[in-house]
Amino acid sequence: MSAMFETIRRLVERLAPAPICETCVALQLTLPMDDSLRANLGELAVERGFERSRAPCGLCEQDQMVLRKRA
Ligand SMILES: [Zn+2]
Repeated sequence: MSAMFETIRRLVERLAPAPICETCVALQLTLPMDDSLRANLGELAVERGFERSRAPCGLCEQDQMVLRKRA
């Protein structure tokens, strides 16, 4: 696992059960929204206890693809 992956995972866990969109992940962690970030988000989405769905983001409230840790 990369350091970026672990950082993203900790952010999503801290916000749980609120979901976060990929734009907010990038903003919160001051990361560029690139293929590397998307790959990490995709990897986290299939981890046990995590899920990706379309819903309002807990931070920006935009209805889009979000990632959350199930409560
Ligand atoms: Zn957001």
